[in-house]
Amino acid sequence: MEDIVQLNNGLKMPLTGLGVFQIPDFDQTKSVVKLALSNGYRLIDTASSYGNEKAVGEAIKESGINREEIFITSKAFINEMGYNKTIAAFYSSLNELGLEYLDLYLIHMPFGDYYNSYRAIIDLYNSGKIKAIGVSNFDEARLVDLILNFDVIPQINQIEHHPFFQREKLLSLMSDYNIQAEAWAPFSEGMNGIFDNPVLVKIAKDHHKSVAQIILRWNIQQNIVVIPKSVHENRIKENMDVWDFELTTQEMILISQLDKNKPALLDITDLNEVLRVYNYLENPVLTTLN
Ligand code: NDP
Repeated sequence: MEDIVQLNNGLKMPLTGLGVFQIPDFDQTKSVVKLALSNGYRLIDTASSYGNEKAVGEAIKESGINREEIFITSKAFINEMGYNKTIAAFYSSLNELGLEYLDLYLIHMPFGDYYNSYRAIIDLYNSGKIKAIGVSNFDEARLVDLILNFDVIPQINQIEHHPFFQREKLLSLMSDYNIQAEAWAPFSEGMNGIFDNPVLVKIAKDHHKSVAQIILRWNIQQNIVVIPKSVHENRIKENMDVWDFELTTQEMILISQLDKNKPALLDITDLNEVLRVYNYLENPVLTTLN
């Protein structure tokens, strides 16, 4: 199978990439991104709220790889919502990254004045500063409400998605609108014993692969983009080594049966979670928030 997907505006995007959430240290981010790029990664996912765009930008520059070959994503956080704030946030991200354009720019969460942010992002897209636009953490209701109010359908919805939270209804809706799914926390950050799950362990053994590789393969066989995060060289390599085997239909069904239909990390419909997100702005601790 191909290692790229085509978005609803024709842009091509790699199916696998590296996420750099919770890597606050400058030097570590830089070396991890360089390592990933030298091991074939061509998609890097960052965000203004991760505080590491500058390091990502330096790594890209020092990698020696042509800018056009790398797909870079950043996101506007909830304190960057509203038309003018999002325009300013976008140029701040671009400046931190040291780039002329972004491949993908997302509304990080559906909180605050994100309608005007989406308007700003469409204008940036039309001016050629962004190649694809999207949202993140939008559930069915919020996504449809946004779509019904704009002529431009987002290319991407980046969502929490892993074997324990499979989001069948949302994915089916996104497919109706030709919106590409991108899975954040494909390993659910290791929560709920995912790496020791007996079903996943058995499938991994049968293929002589790791549980992590099975989860990533399960995603890409559904055409879902994945952006696992790791700071370890062996895992960075392992997470890219998912192209030489195939899960059977039966194995795909077994994994589909692991769905608990509940988020492990972020429930945007839960009041306390919403307050947690807003509290983050008072006391930003990178390790406690997406
Ligand atoms: P992941 O599900 O990718 O899990 C990362 C954890 O898994 C880390 O502890 C990592 O450890 C470990 N790990 C990585 N590879 C392996 C492996 N092969 N075997 C065993 N353990 C492994 O969680 P993230 O939350 O980081 O999600 C991935 C990316 O998605 C983020 O980095 C970010 O870019 C994006 N994201 C977006 C959000 C949004 O709201 N839009 C929210 C959260 C994430 P170690 O690093 O020590 O190797």
